[in-house]
Amino acid sequence: MSSGEQAPNVAALIGDLDRLAGAFADEIGALATEQEIRLAQARYLGKKGRVSELMKALGRLPPEERPAVGEAANRAKASIEGAVATRLAALDEADLAADLARVVDVTLPARGAALGTLHPLTLVRREIEGIFLGLGFEVRTGPWVETEWNNFDALNTPPDHPARDMQDTFFVEGGRILRSHTSPVQIRTMLSEPPPIRIVAPGNVFRRDDDATHTPMFPQMEGLLVDKGVSFADLKGTLLYFVHRFFGPNLGVRLRPSYFPFTEPSAEVDAACYLCAGSGLSAGRSCRLCKGSGWIEIGGAGMVHPNVFRAVGYDPQAVSGFAFGMGLSRMAMLKFEVDDLRSFYEHDVRFLAQFR
Ligand SMILES: [Zn+2]
Repeated sequence: MSSGEQAPNVAALIGDLDRLAGAFADEIGALATEQEIRLAQARYLGKKGRVSELMKALGRLPPEERPAVGEAANRAKASIEGAVATRLAALDEADLAADLARVVDVTLPARGAALGTLHPLTLVRREIEGIFLGLGFEVRTGPWVETEWNNFDALNTPPDHPARDMQDTFFVEGGRILRSHTSPVQIRTMLSEPPPIRIVAPGNVFRRDDDATHTPMFPQMEGLLVDKGVSFADLKGTLLYFVHRFFGPNLGVRLRPSYFPFTEPSAEVDAACYLCAGSGLSAGRSCRLCKGSGWIEIGGAGMVHPNVFRAVGYDPQAVSGFAFGMGLSRMAMLKFEVDDLRSFYEHDVRFLAQFR
């Protein structure tokens, strides 16, 4: 020790160290963040901190007095570190309490963005349109409110025909009706264009029916092909191509004799059941889709009646043609194995979201 320097007062030094711990405790009581507390801790215990400054005097003390001062320094350090730990723990607890006080039900499902889907009827309509567009057909539409002439007379359906009965058809003001099928689109097209014609006409039609298998409005798709020398074989080939594309390859088509006023001959069209491949058996039991018959009914078809050509000014000696029609809701029921037709119109998003 140099003679010029006075030895520090040990008691004063110990008192200063003890007071530092108390001062620190007061200081951090007002601090609200961990960062502020850590900065305060550094101001006391850091290399240039207040405790370190006091400890510089330690070297000037006589050796026998150093332990007491060292002990006071350790006490101050321990006290400051203890105060830091206590204060940080209190902050953590306050954060946790704030989190718990917030009303959060963690069992609720996460809120994702609910994207819409195309309606199954739209999916089926687009798919069928696509199949016929590929064959060179064009898509045509027409108005829902029609003349009786377009809807019935021009389609060889005389005024006394049962289909014109008040029970089946919706009549609107001005002697017009809600079209009962999409066939008026055929009439409108042939009235405005010369043959050849190759169109499909999708759209809603209206009949006074309402039960599990009928709705007063339902979507149909019709097709019409008119040209020179069109035969029944062309009709069957077209239907076969459609069934292969829509339901699956290698499925047969069956035409059963039927009657429609606007076609002659006329046929009901069956496709071999795609679920049981026409066997009627699925997993050793009667197939649920075709009810064991091996066939599913998909629509009606036939060769265009000469009277229809006469009504639109075509020469039935010069051209021939075929027409076919199907219910789009029936096609969707078959394709997606939906049991109740009304599901398509109830707008239950849990039902609709299944079709992506
Ligand atoms: Zn089947």
